[in-house]
Amino acid sequence: MKKNFSVLASLLTMALAGGMLASCAGNQNKKEAAEAAEVTEAKAINPAWNTYNVGEIIFEDKAPETEGSKIYHAIISDPKSYIEEKARIVLNTLYFSPEDSIPHCNQIHYTLEDSEGISAKGGGNGFVSIFYSTRHIEKSFVNNDTTKLHYETTGVLLHELTHAFQLEPQGIGSYGTNKTNWAFIEGMADAVRVDNGYFGPNDRPKGGNYMDGYRHCGFFLVWLKNEKAKDPDFLRKFNRTALEVIPWSFDGAIKKVMGEQYNIDDLWAEYMKAMGDVQ
Ligand SMILES: [Zn+2]
Repeated sequence: MKKNFSVLASLLTMALAGGMLASCAGNQNKKEAAEAAEVTEAKAINPAWNTYNVGEIIFEDKAPETEGSKIYHAIISDPKSYIEEKARIVLNTLYFSPEDSIPHCNQIHYTLEDSEGISAKGGGNGFVSIFYSTRHIEKSFVNNDTTKLHYETTGVLLHELTHAFQLEPQGIGSYGTNKTNWAFIEGMADAVRVDNGYFGPNDRPKGGNYMDGYRHCGFFLVWLKNEKAKDPDFLRKFNRTALEVIPWSFDGAIKKVMGEQYNIDDLWAEYMKAMGDVQ
């Protein structure tokens, strides 16, 4: 049953990828379309997500005069479809199916802005805003490397879209007041990026701790998924602990997903050894 499903899913994915190639062939770099197809094929998406309402996507270019904006439009021909497709990848990474308990998203307002920083998500209550810096686009395109820019732009987008759809820990204070909450939120966002191939081994920071959030936590969670738990649903289950483990903690979440015999700090120590960061 499971096998049939994945065969069906990859057939559908191939059909979609084929359609994308055809529609892009006219005015789009074929190499880029092929890469997009490759990434889509790398991970079969449950077709149930194709009809899920990800919210209204509003794309607004607030800096059309900048070089970064021109570069963005040269590599992303249809921003709304591009963002919508990435939202479905995020949903597929975080959830089993559209029947799960998923924070509702009414609107995603995505802007290109001539500002400092890289990207950030704002808003709440189903109205999400995400900005992407045209200065960062310019910096990421230093060697006219289209592949690298596409990789960076998609990776950053997967991270921010995770914030739109992920579950939040309960009973421990908010993102702004509680470090565990913050580490979970930012760690999961980078885990989604790593899991979909938009951070590679060279992007993994050495040492540190899962409480450092972001890539420290993200790479650790994907290692747990692939190497320790060997469970393709690990990130989905870990996300769901936000509803199940109250008050939430990394250790409580690990016990819920992997079993009472596990301890988060022992797992971190094992991870550090496996990575060669400690002897
Ligand atoms: Zn973030």
